Amino acid sequence: MTKGLPQCFFPMENIIQDYIWGSRTAISELLSVDNPDNAHQAEIWMGAHPNGCSKITNNGESTLLSDFINQDKTAVLTEQTATEFGELPYLFKVLAAGEALSVQVHPSKAQAEVGFAKEEAAGIPRTAGNRNYKDPNHKPELVYALTPYQAMNGFREFTQTIALFEQVNIPVLTDLVAAFASTPTSKGLETFFSAILSLQGEEKETAVSALLEYATAHQQDALFATIVELAGQHPGDIGLFTPLMLNVITLQPGEAMFLYACTPHAYLKGTGLEIMANSDNVLRAGLTPKYIDVAELVDCTKFEAIPFDTLQFTPEQKDGGLYYDIPVDDFKFALFESVSDLTVSTQSAEILLALDSDVTLTHQDGETVTIHQGQSVFIPAYVDAYCLNAAGRVARAFN
Ligand SMILES: [Zn+2]
Repeated sequence: MTKGLPQCFFPMENIIQDYIWGSRTAISELLSVDNPDNAHQAEIWMGAHPNGCSKITNNGESTLLSDFINQDKTAVLTEQTATEFGELPYLFKVLAAGEALSVQVHPSKAQAEVGFAKEEAAGIPRTAGNRNYKDPNHKPELVYALTPYQAMNGFREFTQTIALFEQVNIPVLTDLVAAFASTPTSKGLETFFSAILSLQGEEKETAVSALLEYATAHQQDALFATIVELAGQHPGDIGLFTPLMLNVITLQPGEAMFLYACTPHAYLKGTGLEIMANSDNVLRAGLTPKYIDVAELVDCTKFEAIPFDTLQFTPEQKDGGLYYDIPVDDFKFALFESVSDLTVSTQSAEILLALDSDVTLTHQDGETVTIHQGQSVFIPAYVDAYCLNAAGRVARAFN
């Protein structure tokens, strides 16, 4: 670093969340991140979220990224981001699902604002188990697969859901399925979906065990093999019905998809990058021992089918990288593959993650830094531009 000029590149020290569903091996094998204690390495968090803020070294001293940003938000984030968001508006993650995460829906911005205000007014503690809204923000997400990555995303075409339930033919559900078949509309799906999630006691047990019996006998079909696998992780869970209602997709490495607000989804297994708005608002809909608020969930869900062939995100090739045209302001995502002396201009604070190889950044004032595979670097907006060299892939989060 040249004396007197502000530092440009800040290698990051990131928190690894050891959630129980996390793989013990994927992150250390894929990204050469040490795991001496054989822990569940579920997620690496890169960002300034209070539940797992990254650290950077500033002038030789280790400091929280959030503290560094707060010293001069306008310079680090840009004036526009500082005004609009008041913080780094995104959280960037590596996520390694050894087991399924819960089926979930994230509210829209408007719903989150109303829901948050309502729960604040009602005095429900933010850490309470029955608290739905931890903040007033929406939480759109993008996932980019590093390994084959199995997930559920969005409702199937209504006719498909009806056909699947008719095929499984569970006596206690016959009336519900017939009602949906006679009203195969958004309203019909809403009624059907709420009724399934609201099943209780013996009815629920009978329905789930009939599903499992059918699935066990039909495992040559990948969908039913998935249900059997999920039942091993979440026995008796009502969420075992969600693969019949939601698109089940396996992204191949390098493929990506977007998860819209108000759309049910779940990550089932695999390792990927995830970038999301800075929010913790999750309404759960199954595959979880946690609280399910069916009424609030239904209020926040769009009962629309998402055609399977529209799930995947096709990036645009430009400026030496692959750019994903994200339909929200909170974050953007791009990927560079083997670049030499590529000039990248910054419009915001950004985070680069080295996926395969060493990555070297150089600033025109002479500062240079090299990070290794699995490491990340924070770049404030004031840097304006940097020169990038990498033999492998580099993921770029910005806004
Ligand atoms: Zn989600």
